[in-house]
Amino acid sequence: MQDRNQIYINGEWVASTGSEAIPVYHSATEEVLGHVPAGTAEDVDRAVKAARAAFDSWSQTPLETRIDYVQRLHEGLKARAEDIARSASAEVGMPFKLAQMIQAGLPIAISGSYPGIAKEFPFEEEVGNSLVVREPVGVVGCITPWNYPLHQIICKVAPALTAGCTVVIKPSEVAPFTAYILAEIMDKIGLPAGVFNMVTGFGPVVGEAIATHPQVDMVSFTGSTRAGKRVAALGADQVKRIALEMGGKSASVILEGADLKKAVSTSVGNCYLNSGQTCTAHTRMLVPESLYQEASELAVAAAQAFTPGDPFDEKTRLGPLSSDVQRERVRGYIRKGLEEGAELLTGGAEPPEGLDKGYFVRPTVFGRVDPDATIAQEEIFGPVLSIIPYKDEEDAVRIANDSIYGLAGGVWAGDDEQAMRVARRIRTGQIDINGGQFNPLAPFGGYKQSGLGREFGKFGLEEFLEVKSLQR
Ligand code: NAD
Repeated sequence: MQDRNQIYINGEWVASTGSEAIPVYHSATEEVLGHVPAGTAEDVDRAVKAARAAFDSWSQTPLETRIDYVQRLHEGLKARAEDIARSASAEVGMPFKLAQMIQAGLPIAISGSYPGIAKEFPFEEEVGNSLVVREPVGVVGCITPWNYPLHQIICKVAPALTAGCTVVIKPSEVAPFTAYILAEIMDKIGLPAGVFNMVTGFGPVVGEAIATHPQVDMVSFTGSTRAGKRVAALGADQVKRIALEMGGKSASVILEGADLKKAVSTSVGNCYLNSGQTCTAHTRMLVPESLYQEASELAVAAAQAFTPGDPFDEKTRLGPLSSDVQRERVRGYIRKGLEEGAELLTGGAEPPEGLDKGYFVRPTVFGRVDPDATIAQEEIFGPVLSIIPYKDEEDAVRIANDSIYGLAGGVWAGDDEQAMRVARRIRTGQIDINGGQFNPLAPFGGYKQSGLGREFGKFGLEEFLEVKSLQR
């Protein structure tokens, strides 16, 4: 049991002014792992005031000094990688080996990228008789989800601190423990008091207090489109800068001539990454009618190789979901898919055999899914793939774009040129061409209702900067 009964404000571990404790569950055993404080609006006010007081001096600290702190953060994350992966596996359900690479590896990679990016970044430029300077936006509130709990925080905190902003983070109440490891690192590296603050708690209380606090200049939110819209609406009243990273319903478009076996198995793997609890998951697989039969057989075989089990067992390829609520939500979507007439090719709403404890869902594939069906339109956030047949390239592009979301996607073709042509027509922030690798320096973010703004690399740094023109 790792009960945490404090929050981190102004360089100190302090008690919350609230008395409620939020239980955090082990995704595979359903046991209580520990508790965190349900913070209050008063806690947020204290944290924001600390961040505001620290801003003047932090924003004036030489860039080299800030870079040095971010470098120390990076080293600190490396030293705690094992703890981070273990914590994320238990809370979120990702198989441990993968969690080492992703849940711990990505925050290390992202934090490690900013010292180099900042050294190259044009903070000042001449435009005619003006000197254009980029300055930190101010106090930033960071509200984050549970699926990649530390990564999503680091995507905000590393560039924000580099830019000269001070932060108040609110980690997800479902998976908050990696944020505690982060706060311990921040404490250890001796970041000046008030530069980094953490208040745990529920969205409607702590999240909304951040979004409405008059001294918060920017809210950077990652999470569901529903909560993101609420944060944006609340922040609009004070014309806060709002960055949103939200849901997705990404398509993997497989064209005739593609390496079908590779395309299908990679697409299934992408859909099931982190048990489908991934905003960029390729949850719709678009295949030409002529290849439908073969593609669906390949998809079923690939899906069945994802043995569900304990995330700490080396043989496990598919861990549980992070919570009871999420498991019920995903099972509800599977039942909805059946009701609306999709063909269940493998999986289903029943718990996987032999796994009556843990938030497990069977790896599920639906075939001949109507593009208008609920399971083809709404984000499920579980291991559920919808295969949608299409007539021709035009039809494929139309179906891929027929979504309120626009976060990610993939295109598979016989040659990269054809894949690029189709990729340019798809309205999303990221597209992988013939299985192109994830790039932590490339801008990440969504079109349409998937978001506003970009994270990662120099694009992620720009988010936290204001632009000022000085005329001479
Ligand atoms: P969520 O929206 O329920 O919660 C996200 C965060 O917002 C949590 O910290 C939560 O406490 C807080 N929150 C909830 N209601 C709030 C409110 N009214 N005001 C302020 N804050 C509030 O999302 P989740 O279930 O934790 O995560 C899953 C969602 O996150 C999925 O939709 C997924 O696509 C999305 N996501 C997006 C990205 C991306 O980069 N685009 C990355 C990961 C996850």
